[in-house]
Amino acid sequence: MATTVITGSASGIGAATCARFKKMGDNVIGIDIRDAEIIADLATPDGREVAIEGVKQRCSALDRLITCAGLAPYIRPPAIIPSVNYFGAIDLIDGLFELLKQGSKPSVVAVVSNSAQWLQADETSYVQALLAHDEDEAVRLIAEYEDLFMAASLAYVGSKLALGKSLRRRASLWGKAGIRLNGIAPGNTNTPMLQKTIEDPNTRDGVLSMEIPLGRVGEPDEMAEVIAFLCSPEASYIHGSIVYADGGIDAQTRPDSF
Ligand code: NAD
Repeated sequence: MATTVITGSASGIGAATCARFKKMGDNVIGIDIRDAEIIADLATPDGREVAIEGVKQRCSALDRLITCAGLAPYIRPPAIIPSVNYFGAIDLIDGLFELLKQGSKPSVVAVVSNSAQWLQADETSYVQALLAHDEDEAVRLIAEYEDLFMAASLAYVGSKLALGKSLRRRASLWGKAGIRLNGIAPGNTNTPMLQKTIEDPNTRDGVLSMEIPLGRVGEPDEMAEVIAFLCSPEASYIHGSIVYADGGIDAQTRPDSF
């Protein structure tokens, strides 16, 4: 029986992914701040350590790790966003490396976002701080913004950009260790996060005005299917990729980039 760890397992894409892997007969270990096998606050280094130690106590080999836990730009204060979205994913990925090495055909999928390229945040000190693994500095840079909307937008988009880059930067080392590492970039997906984004007056117009080539938002089950495929033997040569599952929004926004 394969052992699969899923963060953000209590809701949305994480919950759908848990159901998908449980249906395949996996031993699924969910990590979340509530309603999970391992209760841990991924916003703090201590909480991330609780999560990593909790996994180590429950298995001696890990076959799949899927990081879904995340916070959207409506969250206040926005300075918590980098801690959950970036460090809550990358610290778990790195912290479970040795356990994954013991797994059978091990595979990691991180949930990124199709918005990662939208603000061209590459050169910002914030993204550089994330890539340098400087959590205090990343949090400080977001906290010093007076405009909370701008702070939250950069906090979210930059956290996803840095996460995608960090996955790809690990492709060489992790490939040599036999662990496949990929990301998915969902677009608007029908989860509690999207509902709250629509309810928030600061973020609702941006979401509702977005034209989606396929004419509808995605369903969490559709994201779970892409994640399951990336973890499957059929995806055995896919490594270091970010797969867009966004109904065509990225292609429409950046047709000449891929
Ligand atoms: P959701 O709000 O339904 O689920 C997020 C989960 O993360 C929740 O169970 C929540 O409890 C958990 N979480 C939040 N903070 C945590 C913390 N400090 N410690 C532990 N767990 C914590 O959201 P979702 O839509 O399923 O989002 C899943 C992922 O998909 C996120 O990373 C999000 O950025 C990404 N994403 C979502 C959309 C969308 O439209 N829904 C689009 C692009 C990307």
